[in-house]
Amino acid sequence: MLSSVTSTQVISYAIIDPIISQNVNLKFSKIDKKKNFDQSYKTLWGYFEQEIKWNNVILLGVMHLYTLKIFLMLRPEIWHLIVWGLFCGSIGGFGVTAGVHRYFTHRCFKANLPLRIILMLAFSSSGQNTIYDWVRDHRVHHKFSETDADPHNAKRGFFFAHCGWLMLKKHPDVVTKGKIVDCSDLLNDPVVLFQQRYFLPLKLLFCFVIPVIIPVYFWGWEVGGCIDAAIGKWVLLLNCTWSVNSVAHLWGTKPYNKEISPVESRTVSFLSMGEGWHNYHHTFPWDYKAAELSYSWNITTFFIDVFAKMGWAYDLRQPSLDLVERVARKAGDGSHFKWGHNVVEEHE
Ligand SMILES: [Zn+2]
Ligand SMILES: [Zn+2]
Repeated sequence: MLSSVTSTQVISYAIIDPIISQNVNLKFSKIDKKKNFDQSYKTLWGYFEQEIKWNNVILLGVMHLYTLKIFLMLRPEIWHLIVWGLFCGSIGGFGVTAGVHRYFTHRCFKANLPLRIILMLAFSSSGQNTIYDWVRDHRVHHKFSETDADPHNAKRGFFFAHCGWLMLKKHPDVVTKGKIVDCSDLLNDPVVLFQQRYFLPLKLLFCFVIPVIIPVYFWGWEVGGCIDAAIGKWVLLLNCTWSVNSVAHLWGTKPYNKEISPVESRTVSFLSMGEGWHNYHHTFPWDYKAAELSYSWNITTFFIDVFAKMGWAYDLRQPSLDLVERVARKAGDGSHFKWGHNVVEEHE
């Protein structure tokens, strides 16, 4: 991959991706072919040697306990904080779904500079990773789904696929395969490089500081409540995003390809603004709708269409209806609402 980029890009690449430049100790032990994962890397509760990331375990643990406290104390009179939290969380969600997922990872559409900046800032407000790391992990996930190289391999169980993978050091296969997945397009995007350079200030500013400052300064709301709303929406959005990797890889139907693990999940689509039609998405990853239908629990598609009407998003990609039909008839499990030959019970 590096041979196809310029020397400036190689330097940016080394700065941008310390994981690749470091000398990784590749110790492969026996692979269990049947379960398709290295038995020395089971789950957080199995045998894990020294690969636990304790900082993430503590951070996520404490933040989830704090969010639990926030939810236990919810009262109707703080509805304004709930609405504000949901509004801010939705902006972050749009940054994840339309931004880092459909635009930066899959290039399902093209975007002008203002829209790219909006997507980057919206994604920064989600309080997740750098665009580069997120995209690399997700491209590896698509290319090596349900193998050791999949960062959140659902074969290792719900907890690992949901958030356990963030609490353990990466499996060696994830690191090695991460090196061969082409991410050179990101190095040519100044918006991505800017977010990489100012990752932490952007994350803190847009995910936590601004959602607190706006209501305190303009509407005189109490600081403590606004901090709770900011933390609550962050943790909630993390779980909505994670549910695509866990629930939408475990429980649902497979109308487009029965040979793969990703499934269709209405619940996850509702929670993740349209990302739960995952059997379709893994079959046609370049479709900007990430689903066959435009607006079935898919508010992200609606917003991309709005930007397309403005001319800010263009060259929206999607397969022909004929191709989708042929694939569904040939490879699906028969549960397709139009072209299915049997009805498969939804395990949701
Ligand atoms: Zn997936
Ligand atoms: Zn994807």
